[in-house]
Amino acid sequence: MPTPPSPKALAELTRCLGPAKVLSGPAIARAYDRDAYVLASTKAHAVVRPETTGDLVTLCRWATRHDVCLTPRGAGTGLSGGATPSPDAVVVLTSGMRRVLTLSPQDGLAVVQPGVVNAHLDAMVRPLGLTFAPDPSSQSTCTLGGNIAENAGGPHTLKHGMTVQHVLAARVVRGDGSIVELGHPTGLDHGLDLLGVFTGSEGTLGFLAEATVRLVPRPQALHTVLAAFPTVRAAAEGVGRILKGGILPAALEMVDSQVVAAVEDAFAAGLPREAAALLLIELDGTPPEVAAEACLLEKMLVEAGADPVQVAQDPAARERLWLARKKAVAALGRLAPAQIIQDGVIRPSLLPEALERIAAIGRSHGLAIANVFHAGDGNLHPVVLFDAADPERVRAVEQAGLDILDMCMAMGGTLTGEHGIGLEKRAALGKMFDADALAWQKAVRLAWDPWGRWNPDKALPVRPCLEDQPR
Ligand SMILES: Cc1cc2nc3c(=O)[nH]c(=O)nc-3n(C[C@H](O)[C@H](O)[C@H](O)COP(=O)(O)OP(=O)(O)OC[C@H]3O[C@@H](n4cnc5c(N)ncnc54)[C@H](O)[C@@H]3O)c2cc1C
Repeated sequence: MPTPPSPKALAELTRCLGPAKVLSGPAIARAYDRDAYVLASTKAHAVVRPETTGDLVTLCRWATRHDVCLTPRGAGTGLSGGATPSPDAVVVLTSGMRRVLTLSPQDGLAVVQPGVVNAHLDAMVRPLGLTFAPDPSSQSTCTLGGNIAENAGGPHTLKHGMTVQHVLAARVVRGDGSIVELGHPTGLDHGLDLLGVFTGSEGTLGFLAEATVRLVPRPQALHTVLAAFPTVRAAAEGVGRILKGGILPAALEMVDSQVVAAVEDAFAAGLPREAAALLLIELDGTPPEVAAEACLLEKMLVEAGADPVQVAQDPAARERLWLARKKAVAALGRLAPAQIIQDGVIRPSLLPEALERIAAIGRSHGLAIANVFHAGDGNLHPVVLFDAADPERVRAVEQAGLDILDMCMAMGGTLTGEHGIGLEKRAALGKMFDADALAWQKAVRLAWDPWGRWNPDKALPVRPCLEDQPR
């Protein structure tokens, strides 16, 4: 087992880094005991708030001397338990590393510290006509370090790609304090794609201390449409019609009637309450491209039976239409004390069947399940609403989650589109990969972190004693 840091060891760390950067005590332990995955928690022995790469090196050398493991943490919005402290771990916060170090519009890049908030970077480069394209729905809070560690997606992933497509280079601190540089700021690198391996590694390979990210021109024109459908099946079939219709929307999102009701009750956004499901579709590009695609889209939506179809005429109207998507999770939060946002992937053509099967899984466990998801990517997010104080309900939620993932895999899909494995999906990994594939992944992980220093119980536990650790 990893060792909890002794009071003497913590005092030594405090001397090395200074008291403002090492925090502990009951309030700290409680404040950082979980992320947005509510079914797992572990008290943090201490929280460290480095400000520089040098602080991280000092921390890792100290952790090596005392065999302490470390859990990186950005904003804690992760949905699979990745930032929940590993047993006996010290949590390493990125909130002290929030600087944009270099902004080079002519090269289309920014060098950032990991604690920079996604939306802050985007707002900073907006006046330059640029954007940081990955836009998870948590973007007003989540950090670039968390985005890179989870290979985050978002509504515009369909056209613009996942975070991995927008990271050019990274500086990573390994468990012994050594520093590796991955990728290249030009985006042109040779040799094995180690930056690709690191992106999406959920804080298990090392600590991202600095990243060079790609900035791209903001689209000149946007066309945002909210289409209401009389049945969930009709909306799901509409997704297939759009995808094979010869246009690639920037975003193609879907919400069901439970989300519509929750958002209307909370925000009175003017959504069509009578709809069984809504598609939110956004086109982007040059004005002539967008105009041509908008005509095609309108035709497809009419043929798919959408009614009414609302088109945003100005930025304020666009914001209002996006409320249905961006505020869905917050609005659903008013309906139950707790929620789990599942994350599985299927081919978009299988959406009609998958949504019916998710509803049946909810009924079989007596659970309310709402859907708000990246339909164009086939990236499902069933939101399970429940009371976490009721152990029987919690068991039902866990089983429903596994049933949904089994369904995705049986349909030829995958375990996670963007939220990662973390703690939540460890048990399902063996269903997705055979023993050889898992052994291969573990070997890669141990090549980076042979000490099992970083997040040792997450995704693919590297210390056998942690595999079945109760949380
Ligand atoms: C309402 C809501 C909506 C969401 N929408 C989306 C969405 O549309 N798309 C999507 O992909 N996700 C979404 N998420 C999930 C979450 O916001 C993303 O995974 C995000 O990237 C996490 O960022 P964070 O800063 O909160 O990271 P955290 O939750 O703090 O950490 C996430 C993981 O990254 C690791 N980590 C953090 N910083 C570092 C670092 N510097 N070095 C190494 N490892 C590190 C942690 O150990 C952990 O494993 C949503 C979450 C919520 C609550």
